[in-house]
Parts: sequence; structure tokens; C-alpha cells
Amino acid sequence: RKKTAPPVFKKLTVNPSQTSNEPKGFIERMKDGGRSIVIFFGSQTGTAEEFATRLMKESSRYGMKAILADPEDCDMETLCNLTDIDRSLAIFLMATYGEGDPTDNAQEFYDWLRDSDASLSGIRYAVFGLGNKTYEHYNAIGKFVDKKLEELGAERIFPLGLGDDDANIEEDFLSWKEKFWPAVCDYFGVSDAGEDVNVRQYSLTLHNDPEKVTLFKGEPGRIGSFQNQKPPFDAKNPFLSTIISTKELHKAGDRSCLHINIDLTGSRLRYDTGDHVGVLPRNDSTLVNWLGERLKVDLDAPFTLTSLDEEAMKKHPFPCPTTFRTALTFYLDITSCPRTNVLKELSEYTDDGGDKEFLLSMTKSSPESKEKYMNWVVKDHRTTLHLLEDIPSLHPPIDHLCELLPRLQVRYYSISSSPKVNPNLLSITAVVVEYTTPTSRHMRGVCTGLLSTLRPSEVIQPKIPVFIRRSQFRLPFKTNLPIIMIGPGTGLAPFMGFLQERKVIKSEGDKPLGEAYLYFGCRHEAEDFIYEEELKEYLKDGTLNKLYLAFSRDQEKKVYVQHLLEQNSEEVWNVLQQKGHLYICGDARNMATDVDKVLHKIVMACGNHDSASANDYIKRLRSTGKYSCDVWS
Ligand code: FAD
Ligand code: NAP
Repeated sequence: RKKTAPPVFKKLTVNPSQTSNEPKGFIERMKDGGRSIVIFFGSQTGTAEEFATRLMKESSRYGMKAILADPEDCDMETLCNLTDIDRSLAIFLMATYGEGDPTDNAQEFYDWLRDSDASLSGIRYAVFGLGNKTYEHYNAIGKFVDKKLEELGAERIFPLGLGDDDANIEEDFLSWKEKFWPAVCDYFGVSDAGEDVNVRQYSLTLHNDPEKVTLFKGEPGRIGSFQNQKPPFDAKNPFLSTIISTKELHKAGDRSCLHINIDLTGSRLRYDTGDHVGVLPRNDSTLVNWLGERLKVDLDAPFTLTSLDEEAMKKHPFPCPTTFRTALTFYLDITSCPRTNVLKELSEYTDDGGDKEFLLSMTKSSPESKEKYMNWVVKDHRTTLHLLEDIPSLHPPIDHLCELLPRLQVRYYSISSSPKVNPNLLSITAVVVEYTTPTSRHMRGVCTGLLSTLRPSEVIQPKIPVFIRRSQFRLPFKTNLPIIMIGPGTGLAPFMGFLQERKVIKSEGDKPLGEAYLYFGCRHEAEDFIYEEELKEYLKDGTLNKLYLAFSRDQEKKVYVQHLLEQNSEEVWNVLQQKGHLYICGDARNMATDVDKVLHKIVMACGNHDSASANDYIKRLRSTGKYSCDVWS
């Protein structure tokens, strides 16, 4: 026998790249699969990955096959080896997250690119950035990647595209790729094959012998991890935490804001004041059941979707084998608006010529088509379920629908407690999303709708999968520095954690504590003044030194936090002069930008700066961590 087992005490010295289980690099995948295009995506909420998949499917139309590549799984230093592949092209779909940051899966690539002086001459590329105009650093990452690749000698074959999620990112993407593909064809001298056919990515296997397969039951990673919990816990292996209490924070009115206490005992999860918690939601069972009935499928049938492409990045679109019920409950987003590619692919499943025509009429590149999509889908907020309700002739097979629906995303919350009080207790402050669409459909947020139903009682202690995401939102390291916290509505969440921590520091008495001023705003003092008692208590015991309140709708003219901030310009300037810290949390779309404008005014007026030098001053505050934002839209 040639092969003998190595002695147990001997360290294996096999080069890891030689083992057969080692995933192939992207260059190798391209060579093995005869592909010339690689599409990298930096994706946080799944949109960039979705767009990348669409480009990959479309590439075959031009006889230029592509692969998808997650930069997190790639050795990006091998990018220069792309020249080994004839007529190769690298496409980057790069989302910008938070305050101009790369997405988690693109962080390492970003760090490498930033510091790199590699020669990328001979590499052809194009970039589409995904961003949101309500954030200060609009599309910073897409712009950076586009510029830096050029600086390293790569050849941009098509101008940078920028998508704005605050307006209509689908339309921006369509407009970009409409011109992108002809430019690629032109560059490589390829003629548009014109065959615009829908290509299936996955094949369906129904498991007729369910006893013989172990099924995923909603776990995002390791099978059985919800039944058999093993640390360390993270996004791929979340901790099934217990909700120990849920309290309504609004005193009146028709909205609901919940204070939810979660028990982390036994998880070894640790968080710092100001961190975020990721919650893995699940879809409402009524909606899942409705879908099962509408498509006439046995939701409990076990199945697997397997990629038809040997070089695919993922073998399955979500954990498989599983049941349709589990996939539609835990893995797929069934309540968002379908994108145009979904309308196009679904249009194949109606016998009604008029309905087919109608669906296709929203997927064309003409301005009329885009407007139709904008009105019928986006403005009317029609989800895929509504589409199936409004077009009864549509009968897509469930497996194709499962292939087309985006993945259900994690929801993040700014933690509203401090581990200094109890490291095993984590609080969330969440406003329940509820609204009626223009077509009179009542909608509830997936996660907040779920959280509002998971009420603990003496007999039931509901569980929810969570993990911690580190943030930069921190109290000053030097406790004696003064702070200003600006957080209307749910923006108050992290500041409740800050105040808890300050109270602990104060009671320990061994560190000096700087002054703390809080600006809070809500609609009506008598309705949504959340944590009123706690804040008044903090004022009384000196944890908080000043509380400025803006009740926007209690008088004729709106009063917002930034109006009060402007009135207190001298005080704000004094805090900045004392090297104090300023924090904003909550709505990114309007509030954060309006507060920023007022801050700019204050710096100009009190610091005698002109507009440009006030900008520089504020930039410096940001880069030195003295001005931090925790905002979302
Ligand atoms: P979804 O099912 O995701 O529905 C929300 C979607 O519904 C919206 O995106 C919009 O498309 C649509 N929608 C909502 N209102 C309307 C309307 N009136 N008309 C038409 N469409 C509408 N939230 C908190 O409450 N507290 C926090 O502390 C908090 N912290 C956050 C921190 C970070 C870093 C981030 C990124 C987000 C934070 N959020 C917070 C927001 C939170 O993550 C969720 O987005 C929010 O709870 C909604 O999730 P959902 O699943 O309930 O709603
Ligand atoms: P909210 O109750 O809607 O607002 C809090 C206070 O802020 C109100 O007094 C409001 O006044 C005021 N305000 C409105 N516009 C402002 C501006 N430009 N500058 C300063 N203050 C302003 O707060 P919330 O329910 O906690 O939500 C906060 C924000 O987060 C919302 O605006 C929403 O966009 C966002 N959010 C999004 C989701 C989501 O589903 N993605 C979920 C939760 C929250 P008026 O209302 O009287 O104008």
C-alpha cells in the first residue's frame, strides 16, 4: 500500500493550495470554465450581488461568459494575472456602506487597493458604484476603486456608473448597463448576439425520501446550528437569544416603539456601548402560506437548488436541502418590490398575452417603460406577492421564484444598553414599521413586525437569532471631555447606552466626567417622548447635564433638534473648543444632513471661518473621531 496515514503527532506539511478541497482562485475558475469576464461585488444588503448576477447572466448573450467573485474569498493580488486570459475584463459592482466605508466583504480588497502600488497595466475594467445620496460620502467606494485602478495602470473601458438608492437604483443600473454592453461589444469587436433569453441558474431536485436528508431549518450557515448552538457566534453562526421583556415606549398615538431586552447568557458574545446588533428576521407565516396556496405547492416538500454552472461561486442560492416553507420564511425576501429582471423572467409564466405584454412593457430601456415600472412597482410599492395577486394568470414554478427572489437580509439596530451595567443584557429600541400602500395594502416591517409579536410571557420565552457588529460610535476615551448627543426619534437608542455607561463611570467615582448635553426630538410630548422618566432621572443625578427637547408638532411651527442647536451655538462651539465630541444618530435622509448644515453655520459664525475652512474644520472633526454619525434611512 502506497498510502499510509501520517502519525498523529506529525504536523501535516502539505501545501494547502495542493489539497483538493481548497477553493479555486478566480483566475483558475475563469481558465477552467472558459470565462473571460470576472464580476466582483462589494455587497452589504445583497443589491450589488444581485446586480452582479444579472450582468453574469447577460454576458452569455454576447458570447462572453462570466464568473461572479466575492472579493472576500479571492486573493485580489492575483488581479494582475488577468492578463493571462485572452480578452479578459474585470467588472466591479461596489457598494458604499455607512460613512463612506467599504462593505464587510470588500474591506480587505479596499485595504489592499488603497496601499497597493502593483502594476495593473493590461487589465481592463469597469465600475458601477451603489450608494445613497442621503449619506455624506456618496458612492465613495465606487469612485475610489474606479480611480485607483486607473492610477495602477488598468484601462477603464467604460465610464464609472453611480446608483443612488435614495432615488431609484434600479433605473440607474439599467441606464448604465444599457450603454455598457454595447461599449464592451464594440471594444472586443463582438456583435450583439441579440438572443435575449432567460437563463436558469439552478436545477431543482425534489427529495422524495425526506427521511434520508438532513434539512436546513433556517440556519444561515452550519446545518443544525439552531438546535446545537456552538460559539463563537457571528453573522454566519448567530446566537439564538431569548427575548426576556418587551415594553411599549409610546404613551399614545397610533405608532409603536418597542424597548426589547435580550438575554446573551451563555453566548460569550461581548459588545461595547455604541455597537450594533444584527437580527435575523423571518417572514410572516400568513404570507408564506398564501404564497404556497397561490402557487399550489406543498410547502413542506424538501428540495435542493443546485447551480448549473460548475464554476459558480455558490453551489446553492441559500442553504439546501430545505423545504419551500423554510426557504420562503428564513432565506428569501418576499416583501420587497421586484426588479425589472424578475418581471421579465416571470412574464414567461402567463398564458395571457396581454399580461405578458404588460409585464414586459416595464422592463424596456425607453423612458416610458422606466416610468411605468416606477409608477406601477416602486410608487405603488407592489411586492412580488402583490404582483401574483394582481396578475392571476401568472403561474411561475416555485423553484424559479426561489431562484429569482433576493436573500432576506439581516436588520441592524443601535444597541440601547451598556454592557457596563449587565454584559449579558442587550437592549433594542425599535419603531414598528407600518404603513398603507397606494393600492390600500397594509404593510408591516418584516423584522419590527416580527419583534412586535414575539412577546415573552411566563410560559413562552421567544428566541431570536442575533450577532454583534462592531461600530466606531464610542464615548470619548478621555471621560472628562464634554459631549453633545443629537438623536431624535429612535436616534436616541445608542445614547441610552452612553448614559448608562456614564452613570456607571460616575458611580465608580475614579474618573472625571465631562458635561453631557442631549438633543432629543419627537412629534408630541404626550405621545412619543420615549424614555422620558429615565432621561429626567439622569438629569437629576447629573449623568446628563442638559436636555434639549424639540416637540415638532406641539405648536404651529415645527421645532427640530437643529433649531435648538443653532440657538445654543456658543455652547456647541465651546464644547468643540474643549476637544469635546459630537454625535448624531437616527434619520440619514433629512435630519442628519440638516444638523450637519447647522453645525457648518455654527463653525462659520463662532469660529470666524469661511465656508471652505468650516468644511475643513468639520472634516477634521470627523477624521479625528470627534464628530461621529450612526445614521440610517
Ligand atoms: P422592512 O420590512 O425592511 O420595511 C422597511 C421598508 O418599508 C423601507 O425600507 C421602505 O421601503 C418601506 N417603508 C417603510 N415605511 C414606509 C412608508 N411609510 N411608505 C412606503 N414604504 C415604506 N431602526 C430602529 O427602529 N432602531 C434602531 O436603533 C435602528 N438602528 C439602525 C442602525 C443601523 C446601522 C441601520 C442600518 C439601521 C437601523 N435601524 C434602526 C433600521 C432597522 O435596521 C430596520 O431597517 C427597520 O427596523 C425596518 O426593518 P423592518 O424589517 O421592520 O422593515
Ligand atoms: P420620527 O418619529 O419619524 O421623527 C422624530 C422627530 O424628528 C420628529 O419630531 C420629526 O418631526 C423630526 N424630524 C423630521 N424631519 C426632521 C429633520 N429634517 N430634522 C430634524 N428632525 C426631523 O422618528 P423615528 O420613527 O424614530 O424614525 C427616524 C427616521 O428613521 C425616520 O425618519 C425614518 O426615515 C427612519 N427609519 C427608517 C426605517 C426603515 O424602515 N428603513 C425604520 C425606522 C426609522 P416631524 O415628523 O413632525 O416632521
